[in-house]
Amino acid sequence: MASLQERIAEVEERVARACAVSGRDVSEVKVIAVTKYVSLNTVSACLEAGLEEIAESRWQDAEPKWKLLGHKGIWHFIGHLQTNKVKDVIGKFQYIHSLDRLSLARELHKKADAAGLDVKVFLQVNISGEDTKFGLAPEAVQGFLKEIAPLHRVKVIGLMTMAPHEEDPELTRPVFRGLRELRDELNLLGLTPEPIGELSMGMSNDFEVAIQEGATRVRLGTVLVGHEEGD
Ligand SMILES: *Cc1c(COP(=O)(O)O)cnc(C)c1O
Repeated sequence: MASLQERIAEVEERVARACAVSGRDVSEVKVIAVTKYVSLNTVSACLEAGLEEIAESRWQDAEPKWKLLGHKGIWHFIGHLQTNKVKDVIGKFQYIHSLDRLSLARELHKKADAAGLDVKVFLQVNISGEDTKFGLAPEAVQGFLKEIAPLHRVKVIGLMTMAPHEEDPELTRPVFRGLRELRDELNLLGLTPEPIGELSMGMSNDFEVAIQEGATRVRLGTVLVGHEEGD
C-alpha cells in the first residue's frame, strides 16, 4: 500500500486536476482528513505530514485523539450530532458540518454562548432525498435560516451534503450541483449576515466531481488516510 506521503501527493494532484478542468484555483478547495477509521498514531502522522484539518464523526472515537492532538490542528465534527453531545464538542471542534434541526441549533447556541464562543456550522442538506440520510430537505432551508437567525452564536458559513455511493461518480453530479444552486439562491435572499460561502461536499469516491461543482471543502477518509480496520 502507498505511504501516507504518497497518498497525500496523489490526492493533491487529483484536486489540482479537478480544479484545472473547472477553471478553479486550488486555493479555493481545502482537504479535510477524515480520521474516523484510523488510529491516534495515524492522526498524528497526518498532522506531521502537513494535513491541517481533521474530521471525526463520533465524539467517543475522537476523544482520545483530540485530547492528545486537539491543539495541533483544525477539527471538524462531521457526524450526526446528538443534542446531549453538544457539550463535548463545543470549544473543541471549530466546525460542525451536521446542523440539521432546530433543537440542535438551540443547544449549540446555548453551549457556545455559555463558553463565550461562536460556533461555525454547515447546514446539512439532504439533496439526494434518500430517507437513509440525515439533513434538511432543500425546501426547508430558507425557513430554517429564519428560525435560527436569533441564535447569534451559530454562524452558518456553509452547506454540507453527502451523495449516494455510486460506482460511476459522474452520477453524483446533480446532487453536488443542487447544493451549489441552493447556496446561490439562498444568498440572493440575503438570509444570513454574511453570504454563505462554503460547500462541504465530496468524499473518497466522488470528490473530483464535487470540486467541479464548487466544493470548497472535501472530506476524505479512505483515499487519503486509509481505513485501518480490515484493510
Ligand atoms: C466517513 C465520512 C467521510 C469520508 O468517507 P470516505 O469515503 O472514506 O472518504 C466523509 N464525510 C462524512 C460525513 C463521513 O461520515
